[in-house]
Amino acid sequence: MFDALADRLESAWKSLRGQDKISETNIQDALREVRRALLEADVNLQVVKTFIEEVRQRALGAEVVAGVRPDQQFIKIVYDELVAVMGESNIPLAQASQAPTVILMAGLQGAGKTTATAKLALHLRKENRTTLLVATDIYRPAAIDQLLTLGKQINVPVFELGTEVNPVEIARQGIAKGRELGVDTVIVDTAGRLQIDADMMAELGDIKKAVTPDEVLLVVDAMTGQEAANLTQAFHEQIGITGAILTKMDGDTRGGAALSVRQISGQPIKFIGVGEKVEALQPFYPDRLASRILG
Ligand code: GDP
Repeated sequence: MFDALADRLESAWKSLRGQDKISETNIQDALREVRRALLEADVNLQVVKTFIEEVRQRALGAEVVAGVRPDQQFIKIVYDELVAVMGESNIPLAQASQAPTVILMAGLQGAGKTTATAKLALHLRKENRTTLLVATDIYRPAAIDQLLTLGKQINVPVFELGTEVNPVEIARQGIAKGRELGVDTVIVDTAGRLQIDADMMAELGDIKKAVTPDEVLLVVDAMTGQEAANLTQAFHEQIGITGAILTKMDGDTRGGAALSVRQISGQPIKFIGVGEKVEALQPFYPDRLASRILG
């Protein structure tokens, strides 16, 4: 999946090989290659700049370790920095001290929000946690049907009030229903638009106020590449996210969106979607993605 990026870094390492010390001049080539590689992996330009600067500082400040080749040392610095940017370790879902925990799903239409809602419910069930799914996308009746179908498939209840009731009210009643059913977690699926849109943001903001979620998860299609940065910025500034799910990581993407999402929002990526099936959800491990990026 990250072959091109790995190749690019491979040539960067060559320019350091045979050097006995990391200096401003001998890391220029390597940094340029890392920069190019990250841009080709669709990491946002600003994110790349910050990343490269951090690597430069660390590399120049690094003590040359006896017996370790500078190129290997540089690889380690790039790897460590990649892991640090993406969040160091997997951060589990927040859990309310008093049930139900409320998770609000946000994102553009087609990102994989509804699928991720069902995937999360299945994931939680494996931890013996019960869920209720709430369908608030009243603009696309197909979205409600999709959630009902997925709910049936995984045997998880779905709360919906059709397309005539206000989404904020549906969400509010959904939480009440969750409490009544005694479920552990309520996951609120929301409407997306094809693009960032003021009405969508306003509605999401209203739902957030009404249900005071423990998690606001931004669902980002990893295939959107550069766009992931703008998307994250808009949602984080206007709504405030607590984490993200990066979907379609099974596709032909280098995963650069992960860096952008994390660095721009400061919030962790919690899961990755790796297929269309409800089982295709994995916890996000920054070190694994960094290793894959570096090949
Ligand atoms: P929503 O509009 O954000 O709710 O998006 P959907 O959940 O309806 O997903 C849109 C499309 O993406 C559907 O065809 C899903 O099957 C597909 N999809 C969702 N997540 C993944 C994933 O991780 N990998 C792949 N390959 N497809 C996915």
